[in-house]
Amino acid sequence: MRDFIPVSQPSVTALETTYVLDALQSGWISSLGQYITTFEEQFAEYCGTKYALTTSSGTTALHLALESYGIKAGDEVIVPDLTFIATANAVAYTGAKPVLVDIEEDTLCIDPVAIEKAITPNTKAIIAVHLYGHPANMPEINRIATQHGLIVIEDAAEAHGASIHGRRTGALGHCGVFSFYGNKVITCGEGGMLTTDDEDLYCRARYLRDHAMSSTKRYWHDEIGFNYRMTNLQAALGLAQLHRIDDFLSQKQAIFEQYHYYLADIPNVKLNFTASWASNVFWLVCLEIEGLTEQERDQWMVELKQRGIDTRPYFCPLSAMPMYHDASVDTPIAHKVAQRGINLPSYFDLSDSDIAYVSNTVRTGLGYAAKPDIQLDAIALPCRCNSQHSPCTH
Ligand SMILES: *Cc1c(COP(=O)(O)O)cnc(C)c1O
Repeated sequence: MRDFIPVSQPSVTALETTYVLDALQSGWISSLGQYITTFEEQFAEYCGTKYALTTSSGTTALHLALESYGIKAGDEVIVPDLTFIATANAVAYTGAKPVLVDIEEDTLCIDPVAIEKAITPNTKAIIAVHLYGHPANMPEINRIATQHGLIVIEDAAEAHGASIHGRRTGALGHCGVFSFYGNKVITCGEGGMLTTDDEDLYCRARYLRDHAMSSTKRYWHDEIGFNYRMTNLQAALGLAQLHRIDDFLSQKQAIFEQYHYYLADIPNVKLNFTASWASNVFWLVCLEIEGLTEQERDQWMVELKQRGIDTRPYFCPLSAMPMYHDASVDTPIAHKVAQRGINLPSYFDLSDSDIAYVSNTVRTGLGYAAKPDIQLDAIALPCRCNSQHSPCTH
């Protein structure tokens, strides 16, 4: 019997152990320390922004960004209906209203046309989520935002290293927000980062993150801030992961290429799509089966689990949930794809034979013959050309 294959699993090597042990033994185990500074500097450099600020999570980074921009009750923030709940919750924490709009069926990211329709005099910001590793259409979103004087926050929690025309996420809007939760592209255990070129925003966010303490009078506070700091131990883990990010990303590309080889010929199956202008990091492999009802999808996931394969359903549309339910929200695409999509095992240490096993179990489950194990040299690995076709000819 084959071992259970999870959807995600962090990769921890001697590098992570060395950095974390060094941080621990240095005595700097709280939220001051060299690893924090270095992680922030090198993450900013990686994204191509002037500043990066560590936070305790992706959710707190989002909340901090919104608070730093002064988003408050009475304001509206446009958010895609298909995302992790944190995107909308962070808006709700400020008292503002998350206005849920539909996504594009191919990229699964927020639809610029839907954004434009949702703008009102109360709209202050747009949160563009780079879902499952694919960047949202930032050139178009930025164009709309400029025209209407809106702030653009990238929720890049699932898309470290993804890019548009060579410019990486985190540097594509007014600010970017990342998560380092255990299943993300790189992890700190828990943690987050705010990236920006805007010095005022960076200073304001750093001040609010540290309880809004006066810089001239200790233990004096003019307003209510937060403790949203990361620890030096988390930063040590994050820095080691950042030093391995190229390996993570080329492996994710290779994993996707292999699934593509096995599954792309099945009619009615859609795998991750990559727009011509985008570089996708394939955080999770996405599989949608056209025509599947939610019940059938869930039953199929149970059957895969019985065969030792973990999967996860797509996010649920936020507008379906009680606290965000609103009859005026019209998001048919989010609702359609949410019920038929699953994510397949996508982690760094997944073996070629695991991918073959998962893929062929999917094939036979859908009534198609299994494919012979892939000839690894038939697809150029690790090719990052973002080819929609496999085998890649580069
Ligand atoms: C994971 C995630 C977050 C939240 O990050 P945490 O570090 O778990 O708080 C926010 N948005 C999206 C799209 C995510 O996937």
